[in-house]
Amino acid sequence: MDEASTDASIVMREVTKRHGDTLAVDRLSLTIRKGEFFAILGPSGSGKTTTLRLLAGFEQPDAGEIIIEGQPMQGVPPNRRPVNLVFQNYALFPHMTVAQNVAFGLEMKGLQAAEIGPRVAEALEMVRLAGKQDRLPSQLSGGEQQRVALARALVNHPAVLLLDEPLGALDKQLRLEMEVELKALQERVGITFVCVTHDQEEALTMSDRLAVMHHGRLLQVGTPEEIYTAPASAFVASFIGVSNSLPGRVQAIEGQRATVAVEGIGLVHAPACTGLRAGTPVLVTIRPERLHLSRDPATDGYQNQIAVRVAKAIYSGNEMHYLVTLPNNLTWKARVPNADGTAKRFHAGESAYLKWRTTEAVLLPE
Ligand code: ADP
Ligand code: MG
Repeated sequence: MDEASTDASIVMREVTKRHGDTLAVDRLSLTIRKGEFFAILGPSGSGKTTTLRLLAGFEQPDAGEIIIEGQPMQGVPPNRRPVNLVFQNYALFPHMTVAQNVAFGLEMKGLQAAEIGPRVAEALEMVRLAGKQDRLPSQLSGGEQQRVALARALVNHPAVLLLDEPLGALDKQLRLEMEVELKALQERVGITFVCVTHDQEEALTMSDRLAVMHHGRLLQVGTPEEIYTAPASAFVASFIGVSNSLPGRVQAIEGQRATVAVEGIGLVHAPACTGLRAGTPVLVTIRPERLHLSRDPATDGYQNQIAVRVAKAIYSGNEMHYLVTLPNNLTWKARVPNADGTAKRFHAGESAYLKWRTTEAVLLPE
């Protein structure tokens, strides 16, 4: 998208922020569309919170420019920006009821009670907390407290909601439910959500698009499917969950297919990416769920095959998780559905053939 387009909710151009010697955000350029659920995914310390605080106006960039809803944000204080930040720890007032917590910001702005009442009711309705307005935060579950924090932001009718690890304090089961609920809420309200998280599953599940961040820089921006199926670098691939890789050198390129020589293994094939030449060092990567494990040495239409030893077999409900040792002593993960019954399962110590189709692999520059 053209970054000057009126579709843009947020434009960041070459934004840099230092904390002392730390380069927390490094020449970050990004365009987020209106009404988009945008996730920023990165490990701890990658600069996610700093990015949100720059957007919210709690920090000023050392360089670069931020434009929100068409307005340059230089010199605009947090309370004059069309955004609301939902803090990681919710920061609810413990002695105030749910309704008082949600009304607080509007009261500070000097709105009349006649206007505050309906807006609080509307915000509580949006997050499905109508009926719990008189409770104290301590009388709510973790998920409900999280929704009060959301209502307290939505009541201001922001154009953009900024969320800092919104589900971080919840247990796994509740987190999965809230991922779905948060996405549904965003679709209902129709405003831009920018959500930062270190959880790749969360980012992939909730977002329309996401950015992967590392050391203050954006490594890749795309849809969950683009990032998952075509990671642009080894870091993105490993962070997003591609755990299997083989280092090698391109031997030949024929049309769409590259042949890669891997020491201790031999030749493997993968779809060619741009900029490859014979001799280019590359990583051949493949996802654990794309591997086929068999006792039969026949190729069965798989263009790649390696004899392996099963090092570990872990039962995981609907799947088996195998750790297999390759002839070059690398360990790979394979995930195999359990639908086939116990007869086809492998046990630790068994020999097997690991197979995959060329189109299932992704080549990354080393
Ligand atoms: P994340 O939210 O991705 O964990 P942060 O934006 O909080 O990352 O931090 C990015 C980097 O900036 C880290 O190295 C962190 O230690 C540093 N940092 C963040 N805030 C401050 C601060 N107020 N003073 C000094 N260093 C900071
Ligand atoms: Mg953070």
